[in-house]
Amino acid sequence: SASIGITIFPDDGTTPNDLLKNADSAMYAAKENGKANFQFYTPSLNTEIQERLAIKNGLIKAVEREEFDVFYQPKLNLHSGRIDSVEALMRWNSEELGSVSPAKFIPMLEESGMVVDVGEWVLQKACKQHQSWLRAGLPPIRVAVNLSARQLRELRFVGVVHEALSKSGVPAEGLEIEITESMLMSDSAVAVVALQELHDAGIHIAMDDFGTGYSSLSYLKRFPIDTIKIDRSFVSDITSNSDGTEIIRTIISMGRALNRRVVAEGVETKEQLDMLKSYQCDEIQGFYFSRPLQSDEATKFLLDYFSKSEQKL
Ligand code: C2E
Ligand code: MG
Ligand code: MG
Repeated sequence: SASIGITIFPDDGTTPNDLLKNADSAMYAAKENGKANFQFYTPSLNTEIQERLAIKNGLIKAVEREEFDVFYQPKLNLHSGRIDSVEALMRWNSEELGSVSPAKFIPMLEESGMVVDVGEWVLQKACKQHQSWLRAGLPPIRVAVNLSARQLRELRFVGVVHEALSKSGVPAEGLEIEITESMLMSDSAVAVVALQELHDAGIHIAMDDFGTGYSSLSYLKRFPIDTIKIDRSFVSDITSNSDGTEIIRTIISMGRALNRRVVAEGVETKEQLDMLKSYQCDEIQGFYFSRPLQSDEATKFLLDYFSKSEQKL
């Protein structure tokens, strides 16, 4: 498939240079709109391009300046009221741009290939953090790390994961890897083998943003998926929209029938939590329980939470 950018002479520009620049901006807009489509140039695309350029330049310096950080968002087990896992989420505080959303900078890290090294850094950092929680006496949990397609296609990726585990001393069961449906679509043989090897070693695999891609059920059969994470967009619908409610119920009962763990993302209200609990969803993640927390805050949150005996929901 191809993403196509279109610009029109002479309305949009009169020199070859301008026209090529416009077409390039339009092509990026087409890629952002889900790829494999076309987009016409509009003047507002130029400001977007400027922003993209600023992010791109900033990212190159971000590594040297150590501007990246990892935050942790605890998830709540709805059956036991315990915290079984947290998700590691990257943060970037840029000197020039301030705090930039991962939704903006991760795709650019992917485009430039930097995501391979930065992703390895996130993995190591998350494992070290996990080890320091274990040392602080916290019960074993799972720390989930998001993966980009590029990382999974690297031949050395499985080795990178094992190294992060052995260096930190975290057991394989303490690590979860979050992938998305689109990563499996390309059906890269390297990725399939890597996932199977990681799973065989005891590492959990979660399917992130479930429901937003093809949601092909054959993925659940072909890939070793332990956990399904229902995308936030469905959760925000459940209290207002009956289709939204039924979709969530269906995903949860499918997950249960297939013996997969089901996590609902983006739970922001008690009402949503109660509904999910009544549908027997296994785990929730969202601002209602906790926002993503900076390392020290996360440590404090976990220590406080575990020191209180069984929380009543
Ligand atoms: P994700 O993996 O689906 O992560 C969940 C996102 O939902 C996070 O956004 C989190 O802050 C947000 N969230 C959690 N609870 C709520 C809620 O109740 N309401 C709302 N509105 N949002 C909630 P964040 O941190 O901005 O990350 C966005 C995406 O960037 C992630 O989506 C993930 O795909 C990607 N990402 C983040 N860190 C990494 C990383 O280290 N590596 C890779 N490859 N991707 C990452
Ligand atoms: Mg995730
Ligand atoms: Mg998600």
